[in-house]
Amino acid sequence: TWGQARETLQTTIGKNNFQTWIEPLTFVSCEGGVAEFGVQTSFQGDWVSRNFGDEILRQFEKLGAPVDRLKFSVHANRPARVAPSAPAPETFVSKPTRAAAFSDDTVIGAPLDKRFTFDRFVVGKPNELAHAAARRVAEGGPVSFNPLFLYGGVGLGKTHLMHAIAWELQTRSPELKVVYLSAEQFMYRFIQALRDKQMMDFKSLFRSVDVLMVDDVQFIAGKGSTQDEFFHTFNALIDQQKQIIISADRAPGEIDGLEERIRSRLQWGLVVDLHPTDYELRLGILQQKVEQYRAQYQELKITDGVLEFLAHRISNNVRVLEGALTRLFALASLVGREITLEMAQESLADILRQSDRKVTMDEIMRKTCDYYNVRMSDLLSPKRSRNIARPRQMAMWLAKLLTQRSYPEIGKRFGNRDHTTVIHAVRKIDELKAQDSQVAEDAELLRRMLEA
Ligand code: ADP
Ligand code: MG
Repeated sequence: TWGQARETLQTTIGKNNFQTWIEPLTFVSCEGGVAEFGVQTSFQGDWVSRNFGDEILRQFEKLGAPVDRLKFSVHANRPARVAPSAPAPETFVSKPTRAAAFSDDTVIGAPLDKRFTFDRFVVGKPNELAHAAARRVAEGGPVSFNPLFLYGGVGLGKTHLMHAIAWELQTRSPELKVVYLSAEQFMYRFIQALRDKQMMDFKSLFRSVDVLMVDDVQFIAGKGSTQDEFFHTFNALIDQQKQIIISADRAPGEIDGLEERIRSRLQWGLVVDLHPTDYELRLGILQQKVEQYRAQYQELKITDGVLEFLAHRISNNVRVLEGALTRLFALASLVGREITLEMAQESLADILRQSDRKVTMDEIMRKTCDYYNVRMSDLLSPKRSRNIARPRQMAMWLAKLLTQRSYPEIGKRFGNRDHTTVIHAVRKIDELKAQDSQVAEDAELLRRMLEA
Protein backbone atom coordinates (compact mmCIF):
# COMPACT_ATOMS: atom_id res chain seq x y z
CA THR A 1 0.00 0.00 0.00
CA TRP A 2 2.81 2.45 0.71
CA GLY A 3 3.87 2.03 -2.89
CA GLN A 4 0.43 3.07 -4.07
CA ALA A 5 0.09 5.88 -1.57
CA ARG A 6 3.49 7.12 -2.63
CA GLU A 7 2.38 7.14 -6.27
CA THR A 8 -0.54 9.47 -5.55
CA LEU A 9 1.46 11.68 -3.24
CA GLN A 10 3.57 12.66 -6.17
CA THR A 11 0.64 14.48 -7.65
CA THR A 12 -1.10 15.65 -4.50
CA ILE A 13 1.87 17.38 -2.90
CA GLY A 14 3.77 18.28 -6.03
CA LYS A 15 6.86 16.87 -7.55
CA ASN A 16 9.28 19.14 -5.80
CA ASN A 17 7.98 18.37 -2.36
CA PHE A 18 7.84 14.75 -3.22
CA GLN A 19 11.44 14.54 -4.27
CA THR A 20 12.73 16.51 -1.34
CA TRP A 21 10.66 14.92 1.39
CA ILE A 22 8.94 11.71 0.47
CA GLU A 23 11.54 10.02 -1.67
CA PRO A 24 14.15 9.87 1.09
CA LEU A 25 11.73 8.14 3.45
CA THR A 26 12.20 4.45 3.99
CA PHE A 27 9.15 2.45 4.78
CA VAL A 28 9.77 0.26 7.81
CA SER A 29 6.54 -1.41 8.77
CA CYS A 30 2.85 -1.13 9.27
CA GLU A 31 1.55 -2.72 12.41
CA GLY A 32 -1.33 -2.08 14.74
CA GLY A 33 -2.49 0.96 12.84
CA VAL A 34 0.94 2.57 12.91
CA ALA A 35 2.94 3.08 9.76
CA GLU A 36 6.60 3.54 10.53
CA PHE A 37 9.13 5.33 8.41
CA GLY A 38 12.83 5.77 8.70
CA VAL A 39 14.25 9.26 8.38
CA GLN A 40 17.78 10.56 8.55
CA THR A 41 17.27 13.48 10.88
CA SER A 42 14.63 14.53 13.33
CA PHE A 43 14.21 17.66 11.27
CA GLN A 44 13.16 15.59 8.32
CA GLY A 45 10.69 13.61 10.40
CA ASP A 46 9.19 16.70 11.97
CA TRP A 47 8.89 18.41 8.68
CA VAL A 48 7.24 15.55 6.89
CA SER A 49 4.81 14.94 9.69
CA ARG A 50 3.91 18.56 10.10
CA ASN A 51 3.48 19.30 6.45
CA PHE A 52 2.50 16.09 4.81
CA GLY A 53 1.33 13.91 7.68
CA ASP A 54 -2.34 14.56 7.10
CA GLU A 55 -1.98 14.01 3.41
CA ILE A 56 -0.17 10.71 3.89
CA LEU A 57 -2.86 9.53 6.28
CA ARG A 58 -5.52 10.55 3.79
CA GLN A 59 -3.88 8.50 1.07
CA PHE A 60 -3.72 5.45 3.32
CA GLU A 61 -7.34 5.93 4.18
CA LYS A 62 -8.33 6.16 0.53
CA LEU A 63 -6.57 2.89 -0.13
CA GLY A 64 -8.41 1.31 2.75
CA ALA A 65 -5.23 0.73 4.73
CA PRO A 66 -5.77 0.47 8.48
CA VAL A 67 -3.39 3.28 9.38
CA ASP A 68 -4.26 5.99 11.84
CA ARG A 69 -0.85 7.00 13.02
CA LEU A 70 2.48 7.69 11.42
CA LYS A 71 5.77 7.23 13.16
CA PHE A 72 9.08 8.64 12.03
CA SER A 73 12.18 7.17 13.54
CA VAL A 74 15.69 8.35 12.97
CA HIS A 75 17.69 5.56 11.38
CA ALA A 76 19.87 3.77 13.82
CA ASN A 77 21.97 1.95 11.28
CA ARG A 78 22.52 4.96 9.07
CA PRO A 79 23.67 7.63 11.49
CA ALA A 80 22.47 11.08 10.64
CA ARG A 81 25.28 13.26 9.53
CA VAL A 82 23.69 16.14 11.28
CA ALA A 83 23.18 15.01 14.80
CA PRO A 84 19.61 15.55 15.88
CA SER A 85 19.53 17.98 18.73
CA ALA A 86 16.04 17.12 19.86
CA PRO A 87 16.10 14.30 22.37
CA ALA A 88 13.07 12.55 20.95
CA PRO A 89 14.02 10.83 17.74
CA GLU A 90 10.44 9.96 16.92
CA THR A 91 7.60 12.02 15.69
CA PHE A 92 4.00 11.03 15.64
CA VAL A 93 1.06 12.33 13.71
CA SER A 94 -2.44 11.27 14.42
CA LYS A 95 -5.55 11.76 12.42
CA PRO A 96 -6.56 15.36 12.80
CA THR A 97 -8.97 16.01 15.58
CA ARG A 98 -10.75 19.11 14.47
CA ALA A 99 -11.15 21.66 17.16
CA ALA A 100 -14.83 22.35 17.38
CA ALA A 101 -15.58 26.00 16.91
CA PHE A 102 -18.78 25.62 18.86
CA SER A 103 -19.34 23.68 21.99
CA ASP A 104 -22.45 22.07 20.58
CA ASP A 105 -20.10 20.44 18.11
CA THR A 106 -21.45 22.20 15.06
CA VAL A 107 -18.27 23.22 13.40
CA ILE A 108 -18.51 26.06 10.97
CA GLY A 109 -15.09 27.57 11.18
CA ALA A 110 -11.83 26.32 9.76
CA PRO A 111 -8.99 25.31 12.07
CA LEU A 112 -6.41 27.93 12.93
CA ASP A 113 -2.74 27.56 12.18
CA LYS A 114 -0.70 27.45 15.39
CA ARG A 115 2.14 29.33 13.84
CA PHE A 116 0.04 32.31 12.81
CA THR A 117 0.24 34.36 15.98
CA PHE A 118 1.13 37.96 16.64
CA ASP A 119 4.49 37.15 18.14
CA ARG A 120 5.48 35.44 14.96
CA PHE A 121 4.40 38.31 12.77
CA VAL A 122 7.31 40.53 11.84
CA VAL A 123 6.34 44.16 11.55
CA GLY A 124 7.90 46.51 9.04
CA LYS A 125 6.94 49.61 7.11
CA PRO A 126 4.87 47.74 4.52
CA ASN A 127 2.58 46.09 7.05
CA GLU A 128 2.66 48.28 10.15
CA LEU A 129 -0.75 49.80 9.59
CA ALA A 130 -2.45 46.49 8.95
CA HIS A 131 -0.72 45.05 11.97
CA ALA A 132 -1.76 47.93 14.22
CA ALA A 133 -5.36 47.66 13.07
CA ALA A 134 -5.36 43.91 13.62
CA ARG A 135 -3.94 44.38 17.10
CA ARG A 136 -6.56 46.90 17.96
CA VAL A 137 -9.36 44.61 16.86
CA ALA A 138 -7.81 41.71 18.73
CA GLU A 139 -7.78 43.71 21.93
CA GLY A 140 -11.55 43.67 21.76
CA GLY A 141 -13.31 46.28 23.77
CA PRO A 142 -15.80 48.59 22.18
CA VAL A 143 -16.02 47.81 18.51
CA SER A 144 -13.92 50.39 16.82
CA PHE A 145 -13.20 49.30 13.30
CA ASN A 146 -16.09 47.40 11.90
CA PRO A 147 -15.68 45.79 9.51
CA LEU A 148 -11.93 45.57 9.34
CA PHE A 149 -11.00 45.01 5.74
CA LEU A 150 -7.46 43.77 5.09
CA TYR A 151 -6.21 43.52 1.58
CA GLY A 152 -2.98 42.82 -0.25
CA GLY A 153 -1.24 40.49 -2.69
CA VAL A 154 -0.64 36.80 -2.25
CA GLY A 155 1.60 35.74 0.60
CA LEU A 156 1.81 39.09 2.35
CA GLY A 157 0.32 37.93 5.62
CA LYS A 158 -3.46 38.44 5.45
CA THR A 159 -4.32 34.98 6.66
CA HIS A 160 -1.58 35.14 9.26
CA LEU A 161 -3.00 38.34 10.71
CA MET A 162 -6.55 37.01 10.76
CA HIS A 163 -5.51 33.87 12.60
CA ALA A 164 -3.48 35.99 14.99
CA ILE A 165 -6.56 38.03 15.79
CA ALA A 166 -8.55 34.85 16.36
CA TRP A 167 -5.90 33.35 18.67
CA GLU A 168 -5.64 36.54 20.65
CA LEU A 169 -9.39 36.92 21.02
CA GLN A 170 -9.74 33.33 22.11
CA THR A 171 -7.09 33.78 24.74
CA ARG A 172 -8.48 37.01 26.06
CA SER A 173 -12.12 36.08 25.90
CA PRO A 174 -12.64 32.32 25.66
CA GLU A 175 -16.40 32.80 25.83
CA LEU A 176 -16.52 34.55 22.48
CA LYS A 177 -17.62 32.61 19.44
CA VAL A 178 -14.89 33.43 17.00
CA VAL A 179 -15.31 31.96 13.57
CA TYR A 180 -12.71 32.04 10.86
CA LEU A 181 -13.31 30.61 7.42
CA SER A 182 -12.49 31.28 3.81
CA ALA A 183 -15.08 32.75 1.49
CA GLU A 184 -14.89 29.52 -0.43
CA GLN A 185 -15.83 27.54 2.67
CA PHE A 186 -18.62 29.98 3.32
CA MET A 187 -19.97 29.29 -0.13
CA TYR A 188 -19.58 25.59 0.28
CA ARG A 189 -21.53 25.56 3.53
CA PHE A 190 -24.17 27.77 2.04
CA ILE A 191 -24.69 25.46 -0.92
CA GLN A 192 -24.75 22.48 1.38
CA ALA A 193 -27.41 24.12 3.52
CA LEU A 194 -29.49 24.88 0.45
CA ARG A 195 -29.20 21.33 -0.74
CA ASP A 196 -30.03 19.83 2.63
CA LYS A 197 -32.82 22.33 3.18
CA GLN A 198 -31.17 23.64 6.30
CA MET A 199 -31.08 27.29 5.56
CA MET A 200 -32.65 28.20 8.88
CA ASP A 201 -29.84 26.44 10.71
CA PHE A 202 -27.27 28.01 8.48
CA LYS A 203 -28.63 31.46 9.12
CA SER A 204 -28.97 31.11 12.85
CA LEU A 205 -25.52 29.57 13.11
CA PHE A 206 -23.81 32.40 11.33
CA ARG A 207 -25.88 35.01 13.06
CA SER A 208 -24.93 33.73 16.46
CA VAL A 209 -21.20 34.31 16.21
CA ASP A 210 -19.44 37.12 18.02
CA VAL A 211 -16.61 37.58 15.61
CA LEU A 212 -16.77 36.51 11.99
CA MET A 213 -13.71 36.40 9.79
CA VAL A 214 -14.00 35.66 6.11
CA ASP A 215 -10.75 35.22 4.22
CA ASP A 216 -10.28 35.88 0.49
CA VAL A 217 -13.67 37.41 -0.02
CA GLN A 218 -12.90 38.15 -3.69
CA PHE A 219 -13.80 34.53 -4.21
CA ILE A 220 -17.53 35.10 -3.85
CA ALA A 221 -17.62 38.15 -6.10
CA GLY A 222 -19.96 37.40 -8.96
CA LYS A 223 -21.40 34.35 -7.22
CA GLY A 224 -24.96 35.64 -6.99
CA SER A 225 -26.79 33.87 -4.22
CA THR A 226 -23.70 33.28 -2.08
CA GLN A 227 -22.96 36.95 -2.28
CA ASP A 228 -26.51 37.73 -1.25
CA GLU A 229 -26.35 35.47 1.74
CA PHE A 230 -23.02 36.87 2.74
CA PHE A 231 -24.49 40.34 2.59
CA HIS A 232 -27.39 39.37 4.83
CA THR A 233 -25.12 37.69 7.34
CA PHE A 234 -22.85 40.67 7.27
CA ASN A 235 -25.68 43.12 7.91
CA ALA A 236 -27.21 41.06 10.65
CA LEU A 237 -23.90 40.89 12.50
CA ILE A 238 -23.04 44.53 12.04
CA ASP A 239 -26.47 45.47 13.33
CA GLN A 240 -25.75 43.48 16.46
CA GLN A 241 -22.39 45.22 16.71
CA LYS A 242 -20.50 42.00 16.19
CA GLN A 243 -16.99 42.29 14.85
CA ILE A 244 -16.37 41.37 11.23
CA ILE A 245 -12.99 40.95 9.64
CA ILE A 246 -12.63 40.45 5.93
CA SER A 247 -9.66 39.95 3.67
CA ALA A 248 -9.25 40.12 -0.07
CA ASP A 249 -6.47 40.29 -2.58
CA ARG A 250 -7.67 43.70 -3.74
CA ALA A 251 -9.33 46.83 -2.40
CA PRO A 252 -13.13 46.67 -2.21
CA GLY A 253 -13.41 49.08 -5.11
CA GLU A 254 -11.32 46.87 -7.33
CA ILE A 255 -13.09 43.57 -6.88
CA ASP A 256 -14.94 42.83 -10.09
CA GLY A 257 -18.41 41.43 -9.82
CA LEU A 258 -18.88 42.58 -6.27
CA GLU A 259 -22.30 44.12 -5.77
CA GLU A 260 -22.30 47.81 -5.17
CA ARG A 261 -24.17 47.56 -1.88
CA ILE A 262 -21.61 45.09 -0.54
CA ARG A 263 -18.76 47.17 -1.75
CA SER A 264 -19.96 50.24 0.03
CA ARG A 265 -20.73 48.31 3.19
CA LEU A 266 -17.22 46.89 3.20
CA GLN A 267 -15.85 50.38 3.06
CA TRP A 268 -17.77 51.51 6.12
CA GLY A 269 -15.19 50.35 8.56
CA LEU A 270 -11.47 50.48 8.26
CA VAL A 271 -9.78 49.44 5.04
CA VAL A 272 -6.04 48.79 5.34
CA ASP A 273 -3.63 47.23 2.94
CA LEU A 274 -0.53 45.12 3.25
CA HIS A 275 2.07 46.54 0.91
CA PRO A 276 4.54 44.40 -0.96
CA THR A 277 7.42 43.51 1.34
CA ASP A 278 10.62 45.49 1.20
CA TYR A 279 14.16 44.32 1.75
CA GLU A 280 14.23 45.08 5.48
CA LEU A 281 11.02 43.25 6.16
CA ARG A 282 12.12 40.22 4.17
CA LEU A 283 15.39 40.11 6.07
CA GLY A 284 13.56 40.47 9.37
CA ILE A 285 11.24 37.60 8.52
CA LEU A 286 14.15 35.40 7.49
CA GLN A 287 16.02 36.14 10.69
CA GLN A 288 12.98 35.28 12.75
CA LYS A 289 12.54 32.01 10.90
CA VAL A 290 16.16 31.10 11.42
CA GLU A 291 15.83 31.75 15.12
CA GLN A 292 12.80 29.54 15.32
CA TYR A 293 14.54 26.74 13.51
CA ARG A 294 17.63 27.12 15.60
CA ALA A 295 15.68 26.79 18.80
CA GLN A 296 14.82 23.33 17.63
CA TYR A 297 17.74 22.31 15.50
CA GLN A 298 20.86 23.94 16.82
CA GLU A 299 23.00 22.31 14.21
CA LEU A 300 21.55 24.32 11.36
CA LYS A 301 23.91 27.00 10.21
CA ILE A 302 23.32 29.74 7.74
CA THR A 303 25.34 32.90 7.28
CA ASP A 304 23.98 36.43 7.25
CA GLY A 305 25.29 36.71 3.73
CA VAL A 306 22.97 33.98 2.55
CA LEU A 307 20.02 35.59 4.30
CA GLU A 308 20.81 38.93 2.72
CA PHE A 309 21.07 37.27 -0.63
CA LEU A 310 17.64 35.71 -0.20
CA ALA A 311 16.10 38.97 0.98
CA HIS A 312 17.51 40.70 -2.08
CA ARG A 313 16.70 38.20 -4.67
CA ILE A 314 13.41 36.69 -3.64
CA SER A 315 10.23 38.47 -4.45
CA ASN A 316 7.55 39.86 -2.30
CA ASN A 317 5.74 36.76 -1.46
CA VAL A 318 6.66 35.68 2.05
CA ARG A 319 5.48 32.17 1.38
CA VAL A 320 8.06 31.82 -1.38
CA LEU A 321 10.70 33.27 0.91
CA GLU A 322 9.91 30.76 3.62
CA GLY A 323 9.87 27.96 1.09
CA ALA A 324 13.36 28.89 -0.05
CA LEU A 325 14.73 28.92 3.47
CA THR A 326 13.14 25.62 4.26
CA ARG A 327 14.61 24.04 1.21
CA LEU A 328 18.05 25.23 2.25
CA PHE A 329 17.60 23.78 5.72
CA ALA A 330 16.32 20.54 4.32
CA LEU A 331 19.32 20.33 2.10
CA ALA A 332 21.71 21.15 4.89
CA SER A 333 20.13 18.52 7.08
CA LEU A 334 20.36 15.94 4.34
CA VAL A 335 23.91 16.61 3.29
CA GLY A 336 25.12 17.68 6.70
CA ARG A 337 26.88 20.78 5.53
CA GLU A 338 26.68 24.44 6.28
CA ILE A 339 24.64 26.47 3.87
CA THR A 340 26.82 28.54 1.60
CA LEU A 341 25.95 31.14 -0.96
CA GLU A 342 26.84 28.78 -3.80
CA MET A 343 24.60 26.12 -2.37
CA ALA A 344 21.79 28.60 -2.08
CA GLN A 345 22.18 29.80 -5.62
CA GLU A 346 22.33 26.33 -6.99
CA SER A 347 19.51 24.73 -5.08
CA LEU A 348 17.18 27.68 -5.43
CA ALA A 349 17.76 28.28 -9.11
CA ASP A 350 14.12 27.67 -10.01
CA ILE A 351 12.75 30.00 -7.32
CA LEU A 352 15.28 32.68 -8.16
CA ARG A 353 14.38 32.51 -11.81
CA GLN A 354 10.70 32.82 -11.03
CA SER A 355 11.06 35.73 -8.75
CA ASP A 356 13.28 37.76 -11.00
CA ARG A 357 10.54 40.28 -11.32
CA LYS A 358 9.49 40.78 -14.89
CA VAL A 359 8.75 44.44 -15.21
CA THR A 360 6.65 45.16 -18.27
CA MET A 361 7.05 48.05 -20.66
CA ASP A 362 3.51 49.00 -19.88
CA GLU A 363 4.18 49.29 -16.15
CA ILE A 364 7.25 51.37 -16.81
CA MET A 365 5.36 53.77 -19.03
CA ARG A 366 2.41 54.06 -16.67
CA LYS A 367 4.48 54.59 -13.53
CA THR A 368 6.68 57.13 -15.25
CA CYS A 369 3.63 59.06 -16.45
CA ASP A 370 2.18 59.02 -12.95
CA TYR A 371 5.43 60.09 -11.42
CA TYR A 372 5.96 63.09 -13.67
CA ASN A 373 2.28 63.74 -14.07
CA VAL A 374 2.28 63.58 -17.86
CA ARG A 375 -0.17 61.84 -20.14
CA MET A 376 0.59 58.58 -21.85
CA SER A 377 -0.45 60.11 -25.16
CA ASP A 378 2.19 62.80 -24.69
CA LEU A 379 4.83 60.26 -23.92
CA LEU A 380 4.09 58.57 -27.22
CA SER A 381 3.66 61.80 -29.19
CA PRO A 382 6.37 63.53 -31.22
CA LYS A 383 6.40 66.44 -28.72
CA ARG A 384 9.89 67.43 -27.71
CA SER A 385 9.38 70.01 -25.01
CA ARG A 386 11.56 69.36 -22.00
CA ASN A 387 8.71 68.52 -19.59
CA ILE A 388 7.71 65.66 -21.84
CA ALA A 389 11.03 64.67 -23.37
CA ARG A 390 12.65 64.10 -19.98
CA PRO A 391 10.03 61.67 -18.68
CA ARG A 392 10.14 59.89 -22.01
CA GLN A 393 13.91 59.51 -21.78
CA MET A 394 13.59 58.30 -18.23
CA ALA A 395 11.05 55.67 -19.24
CA MET A 396 13.35 54.48 -22.01
CA TRP A 397 16.25 54.29 -19.60
CA LEU A 398 14.14 52.25 -17.19
CA ALA A 399 13.00 49.98 -19.99
CA LYS A 400 16.61 49.26 -20.91
CA LEU A 401 17.56 48.66 -17.31
CA LEU A 402 14.63 46.56 -16.21
CA THR A 403 13.51 44.61 -19.26
CA GLN A 404 15.22 42.41 -21.78
CA ARG A 405 13.98 44.54 -24.67
CA SER A 406 16.35 45.66 -27.41
CA TYR A 407 16.78 49.30 -28.41
CA PRO A 408 14.64 48.91 -31.56
CA GLU A 409 11.89 47.17 -29.57
CA ILE A 410 11.84 49.94 -27.01
CA GLY A 411 11.77 52.58 -29.73
CA LYS A 412 8.82 50.90 -31.31
CA ARG A 413 6.79 50.98 -28.12
CA PHE A 414 7.45 54.68 -27.67
CA GLY A 415 5.48 55.89 -30.65
CA ASN A 416 7.58 54.14 -33.27
CA ARG A 417 10.83 55.92 -32.59
CA ASP A 418 14.13 54.98 -34.06
CA HIS A 419 16.56 52.88 -32.00
CA THR A 420 19.14 55.66 -32.05
CA THR A 421 16.69 57.83 -30.13
CA VAL A 422 16.57 55.22 -27.41
CA ILE A 423 20.35 54.92 -27.29
CA HIS A 424 20.58 58.67 -26.99
CA ALA A 425 17.96 58.74 -24.21
CA VAL A 426 19.74 56.08 -22.17
CA ARG A 427 23.04 57.92 -22.48
CA LYS A 428 21.43 61.21 -21.61
CA ILE A 429 19.90 59.91 -18.39
CA ASP A 430 23.14 58.23 -17.39
CA GLU A 431 24.94 61.54 -17.86
CA LEU A 432 22.32 63.57 -16.03
CA LYS A 433 22.25 61.20 -13.13
CA ALA A 434 25.86 62.01 -12.46
CA GLN A 435 25.32 65.77 -12.62
CA ASP A 436 21.83 66.43 -11.40
CA SER A 437 20.80 65.05 -8.04
CA GLN A 438 17.12 65.50 -8.86
CA VAL A 439 17.42 63.25 -11.88
CA ALA A 440 19.40 60.74 -9.86
CA GLU A 441 16.70 60.69 -7.25
CA ASP A 442 13.92 60.36 -9.80
CA ALA A 443 15.68 57.45 -11.42
CA GLU A 444 16.28 55.71 -8.13
CA LEU A 445 12.72 56.18 -6.91
CA LEU A 446 11.18 54.98 -10.13
CA ARG A 447 13.45 51.99 -10.28
CA ARG A 448 12.55 51.03 -6.76
CA MET A 449 8.85 51.47 -7.34
CA LEU A 450 9.02 49.27 -10.38
CA GLU A 451 11.13 46.63 -8.75
CA ALA A 452 9.06 46.49 -5.59
P1 ADP B 1 -1.83 35.73 2.45
O1 ADP B 1 -2.99 35.21 3.24
O2 ADP B 1 -1.76 37.22 2.43
O3 ADP B 1 -1.72 35.14 1.09
P2 ADP B 1 -0.32 34.39 4.50
O4 ADP B 1 -0.88 35.05 5.70
O5 ADP B 1 -0.81 33.02 4.20
O6 ADP B 1 -0.51 35.30 3.22
O7 ADP B 1 1.27 34.39 4.62
C1 ADP B 1 2.08 33.53 3.86
C2 ADP B 1 3.21 33.02 4.73
O8 ADP B 1 4.09 34.07 5.03
C3 ADP B 1 2.74 32.46 6.04
O9 ADP B 1 3.52 31.35 6.37
C4 ADP B 1 2.98 33.58 7.01
O10 ADP B 1 3.25 33.11 8.31
C5 ADP B 1 4.19 34.26 6.43
N1 ADP B 1 4.24 35.69 6.70
C6 ADP B 1 3.65 36.67 5.97
N2 ADP B 1 3.92 37.88 6.49
C7 ADP B 1 4.67 37.66 7.58
C8 ADP B 1 5.29 38.52 8.56
N3 ADP B 1 5.14 39.85 8.51
N4 ADP B 1 6.02 37.94 9.52
C9 ADP B 1 6.17 36.60 9.58
N5 ADP B 1 5.65 35.75 8.70
C10 ADP B 1 4.89 36.26 7.71
MG1 MG C 1 -4.48 33.89 2.66
